[in-house]
Amino acid sequence: MKLPPLEDSADFVIVGTGAGGATAARVLSAAGLSVIMVEEGPHLRPEQRERGLIAAMGQSMRDMATLSTSGSAPFPLLAGRCVGGSTAINSGIIWRLPESVRAEWARDFGLGELLDERGLGDTFDVLDRELGVGEVAADVRGGNARLMQRGAEALGLPGQIIKRNAPDCKGRARCLQGCPDGARQSMDVSYVPRALADGARLLAGVRATGVLTEAGRATGIEGERLGQDKRPTGQQVRLHARRGVIVAAGALHTPVLLRRSGLRGQVGDHYQAHPGVAVVGRFSEQVGMGFGATQAYQVPMFDRGFKLESISLPPELLAARLPGVGEEWQRLLRNLDYFAQWASITRVRATGRIRPGLISGVHVRYEPGPEDVARIRAGAATLVRMMFAAGAEEVYPGVARLPEVFQSPDQAARIEDAGVRRQDFHLMASHHFASARASDDPRHGAVDSTLQSHDLPGLYVMDAATLPTATGVNPQHTIMAVVMRAAEKLANSERPAITAA
Ligand SMILES: Cc1cc2nc3c(=O)[nH]c(=O)nc-3n(C[C@H](O)[C@H](O)[C@H](O)COP(=O)(O)OP(=O)(O)OC[C@H]3O[C@@H](n4cnc5c(N)ncnc54)[C@H](O)[C@@H]3O)c2cc1C
Ligand code: SF4
Repeated sequence: MKLPPLEDSADFVIVGTGAGGATAARVLSAAGLSVIMVEEGPHLRPEQRERGLIAAMGQSMRDMATLSTSGSAPFPLLAGRCVGGSTAINSGIIWRLPESVRAEWARDFGLGELLDERGLGDTFDVLDRELGVGEVAADVRGGNARLMQRGAEALGLPGQIIKRNAPDCKGRARCLQGCPDGARQSMDVSYVPRALADGARLLAGVRATGVLTEAGRATGIEGERLGQDKRPTGQQVRLHARRGVIVAAGALHTPVLLRRSGLRGQVGDHYQAHPGVAVVGRFSEQVGMGFGATQAYQVPMFDRGFKLESISLPPELLAARLPGVGEEWQRLLRNLDYFAQWASITRVRATGRIRPGLISGVHVRYEPGPEDVARIRAGAATLVRMMFAAGAEEVYPGVARLPEVFQSPDQAARIEDAGVRRQDFHLMASHHFASARASDDPRHGAVDSTLQSHDLPGLYVMDAATLPTATGVNPQHTIMAVVMRAAEKLANSERPAITAA
């Protein structure tokens, strides 16, 4: 039976409940403004999260992780699709925006007022406090991180314990499937409930399909209710926004929604990401990747354009990374506890383009350039050297056209060989940026320094799409800080003197 159309109204309608949307909701509802949050994915309680990887991906990951770049060697672009957005499937790593990047954004994009150094620092302090940010506790770092620390120290690299927003982490190494204890302070267990407690409403399972306009101003959104099978049920949704529409669908989907709503200009241009590669090593001692914070140790190498991280993934994914076939592969499989896995994420300079697409609705053209590929090579080679320095007996570099198994650290140099192409790496990216970037100059950005559209008053973008470039560090804290500051400004322009703290 077809349900009658759903109509409702609020001061602000927010599309998306990830790092950006939930933070906007938390600020605006605390300021006494009425808010409706619209989320395409389901609202899952921690105990409803699936344990198995495949089921979990179907439940909370966008398109089962099949969304990819276009071109000759596509690579996957990961994002969450549930209340909490990508924060509901991420590892909880926290980084503040590096000062060099902040200064670049202030200078080149006119964001000096929004991102003044002192104010931004204060906002990060608020986020740290509210989301329980701190170093991973010693008893839940796990063997994967312990070995990475050993490798970094042996090579004299600048390693450190990761800071996360998971103060009560029990080291179950399951962040990707969703924390079963709600220990990680992803938006679904932090700012979304906080906004709800302050009176906000949440419509989960509703996909926004367009921004409504009247007299040249954004006045709401239209959308459709989805069923559990993710297909439209036929119920139409119209939500009226008295003061503003906030699009926070993530840097992959925000430009698609805006373009489908008729916006053009810089929308969808300048997309950037942090493509990553992973390397696996076999140790004679037990590693025990099944225990420990999913990510607990890192080696930032910003001067070389990459950052290395320990990453404990579910056994299903690890098994797919092991070399060999038949009996040989099964032998490795019987010893899953003896493998470590570390990743390198790269600050890529290339920019791409996002447009509405037919398959999966998003078309992403994005190709790392020669300088980027050199960084990817350097990151992967450094991982191999660290693995051997930590005592690995053999290392699986995961690079096509090279041996599946490296027996000595000297072989790392083969990855740095200029003959290794971008297509030889199994890249994937989970940090997306800049596809509706902020700039005071409409020739360079889709939104201004208040994050309001240059072309459509009343329309704001508050997510990773507005960050002007890739950050080089894990982005969720920066997204939340930028949005918190912009949303406070917006709230104060509606009511006098409100701060989030
Ligand atoms: C596997 C993984 C691990 C990561 N690990 C870390 C980490 O450890 N530390 C870190 O800092 N960052 C990490 N990130 C990145 C971080 O999670 C993202 O940068 C951040 O969540 C992006 O915030 P956002 O608001 O832009 O988008 P998202 O958090 O992705 O939220 C966008 C939301 O909008 C919804 N949406 C999209 N289109 C529509 C529509 N038309 N209608 C309604 N709703 C819609 C989506 O379903 C989604 O819920 C990780 C990301 C992934 C995927
Ligand atoms: S590693 Fe920690 S934060 Fe992640 S799912 Fe497990 S208990 Fe939760």
